[in-house]
Amino acid sequence: MSRPQQITVLGATGSIGLSTLDVIARHPERYQVFALSGFTRLSELLALCVRHVPQFAVVPEAIAARGLQDDLRAAGLPTRVLVGEEGLCQVASAPEVDAVMAAIVGAAGLRPTLAAVEAGKKILLANKEALVMSGALFMQAVRKSGSVLLPIDSEHNAIFQCMPQDFARGLSSVGVRRILLTASGGPFRQTPMAELAHVSPDQACAHPNWSMGRKISVDSASMMNKGLELIEACWLFDAKPAQVEVVIHPQSVIHSLVDYVDGSVLAQLGNPDMRTPIANALAWPERIDSGVAPLDLFAVARLDFEAPDEQRFPCLRLARQAAEAGDSAPAMLNAANEVAVAAFLDGRVRYLEIASIIEEVLSLEPVVALDDLDAVFTADAKARILAEQWLSRHGR
Ligand code: NAD
Ligand code: MG
Repeated sequence: MSRPQQITVLGATGSIGLSTLDVIARHPERYQVFALSGFTRLSELLALCVRHVPQFAVVPEAIAARGLQDDLRAAGLPTRVLVGEEGLCQVASAPEVDAVMAAIVGAAGLRPTLAAVEAGKKILLANKEALVMSGALFMQAVRKSGSVLLPIDSEHNAIFQCMPQDFARGLSSVGVRRILLTASGGPFRQTPMAELAHVSPDQACAHPNWSMGRKISVDSASMMNKGLELIEACWLFDAKPAQVEVVIHPQSVIHSLVDYVDGSVLAQLGNPDMRTPIANALAWPERIDSGVAPLDLFAVARLDFEAPDEQRFPCLRLARQAAEAGDSAPAMLNAANEVAVAAFLDGRVRYLEIASIIEEVLSLEPVVALDDLDAVFTADAKARILAEQWLSRHGR
């Protein structure tokens, strides 16, 4: 390889961002950090800049930018600080950049990720919410620019690895019958239903197998994460919602499976550590060391499977309905969920109310076509207003 690839990490201070930097640091001859972004925890962003010496760092606003710029200068670093969404879009699309890790959580990641797509970058997509909100426009932009889109979500990365290279010809043309999307079932898989009314944010964030940011941890507890992933899988692999079956697999060792018409079922297995899909996508189609320990099947000993219970996990039902409705429904689902989960994490709503808020928002707004990005953000904003109205009506 002639020169190290230049990588922008959007959301560098988060769980995926840090795992990405861990893999990158193992291969200095292959990868160099071009830019890092952070939104909070800016002292950690400074420490990451000291370690990886990026050309740019991006923070949300001007005062924080001045502070970080002074600290960087004092540390003798050449890193320049940029501000806000404009800064994020700039480092996502800069001509020097080879690949962009899209690891901002939520709708805030959409514009910078799309900027990277439009600039034809290799996209390492962790920010599933971007695809859920604007799947049709996003995939259209990928096709137009010729961007290589590689899934980081462990399930989608597993499916990608189990698909034939030419899966873009269409699932039936390549003999795929179904995608089997695995889910751990989260911390509340076996909690007595009566106790679910009183579970706390910390209990929801205590995932049995994965260590993740707080928003996705709550989504995993409610299984909205699997619902968002169902929609994500439909866009990435051009599947219909009915072709994606959710399978609860509590050990999180099989990361998903592809069922072929000849009866073959291919699975990808590994320890639950996001550095595996990150390393897979960074090096694709090659393979590199990720730092993840080899899978010890004797220690795993058994693999269990069960069907999800939609009464226990109403968010999964709501997401499937939104996937089937299409158009603006997934964007509304995602936005209502973001508001409800933030309110749950703040202690303003109870766990079971997350689904009630989303269900009400989806029932109040008609589904409309999303022809451009403005329409996506309009649908997103309407859902946020309706969710906020639920909160104020209930005195939260
Ligand atoms: P996290 O909360 O740990 O990190 C989020 C990052 O986004 C941080 O760097 C934060 O500073 C930044 N950020 C937050 N709000 C922002 C805003 N408004 N504008 C700009 N930046 C902002 O989250 P995470 O667990 O790393 O997840 C990141 C994304 O990856 C999510 O979309 C999640 O669904 C997806 N994902 C995560 C995992 C995992 O194991 N953590 C697995 C699969 C997919
Ligand atoms: Mg996942």
